[in-house]
Amino acid sequence: MPFNHKKEADEILDKEFKVLDKGFVRLVDYMGSDERVVASARVSYGEGTKTFREDKSLIHYLLKNEHTSPFEQVVLTFHIKLPIFVARQWIRHRTARVNEISGRYSIMKEQFYVPSLDVIAPQSKSNKQGRETTPFEQKEAKEIQTLIFDTYENSYKNYKKLIEKNVAKEIARMILPLGLYTEWYWQIDLHNLFHFLKLRLHPHAQFEIREYAKVLLEITRKVAPLSIEAFEEYVLNAITLSREETKSLKESLPEKSSLPKTVAEKLK
Ligand SMILES: Cc1cc2nc3c(=O)[nH]c(=O)nc-3n(C[C@H](O)[C@H](O)[C@H](O)COP(=O)(O)OP(=O)(O)OC[C@H]3O[C@@H](n4cnc5c(N)ncnc54)[C@H](O)[C@@H]3O)c2cc1C
Repeated sequence: MPFNHKKEADEILDKEFKVLDKGFVRLVDYMGSDERVVASARVSYGEGTKTFREDKSLIHYLLKNEHTSPFEQVVLTFHIKLPIFVARQWIRHRTARVNEISGRYSIMKEQFYVPSLDVIAPQSKSNKQGRETTPFEQKEAKEIQTLIFDTYENSYKNYKKLIEKNVAKEIARMILPLGLYTEWYWQIDLHNLFHFLKLRLHPHAQFEIREYAKVLLEITRKVAPLSIEAFEEYVLNAITLSREETKSLKESLPEKSSLPKTVAEKLK
């Protein structure tokens, strides 16, 4: 078999990759890799294994032409520790299977996300959903960080008091903030993982979920390197233009002939 990355993927199984201050991503298991994408695509044409070069170009061809179902044949299971506010964004991706720790059953641990000083920034003036890229001055950021920390400490102290009073865990946990860490198993196929990564690696996605997406990308590269390469080429770093944008691009190009052939063809 021309593919030789299985060893690399197996070496990272169960390894914790740190994210944020206390979070992690761990690859629990995976099913299939680039070979599976190729084999399942070839079944359409009744053809067997070909050379590595041909297999690589098939994977590129599939993603370029949005023939995505072969990528659904690859499935990855992750164990993830993440703050609840990140989990709330994450759970919007419905095409995955999730099993989360229960705050009704377990005592929640005193584990809160405390943002580092360099990411504590003012509300963005241009983007209502985001923060400015320049953080607060060190002294002010420190004060804000202390306020965040004290709030967590106070909430957890009261949570413990409720538990000591034998209040049901499902009630006591109501007072815990969104910065609390939770954990879940998350299983997704490669096609839907690409969709997650495209949205959550985008600069408009919140910094904290982007940090997780970056780690997922690198772990998945070990499992299916050619598929990730094709994803980066045709999805992640590709751009879509609106009709108006395409029109104005066409109009502003002086010499279409100087463009690479593939680009000129698209602009016809
Ligand atoms: C930067 C950013 C900001 C966001 N801001 C907000 C916000 O302010 N408020 C908010 O509520 N959400 C927000 N979201 C969440 C966003 O609207 C999507 O819910 C989320 O990104 C998941 O995308 P999805 O539905 O395509 O993914 P998935 O749920 O994984 O679905 C993948 C694809 O499957 C198909 N699909 C899945 N389920 C169905 C269904 N039931 N019916 C039809 N088709 C289906 C769709 O084609 C979908 O694109 C934000 C997302 C991003 C990236």
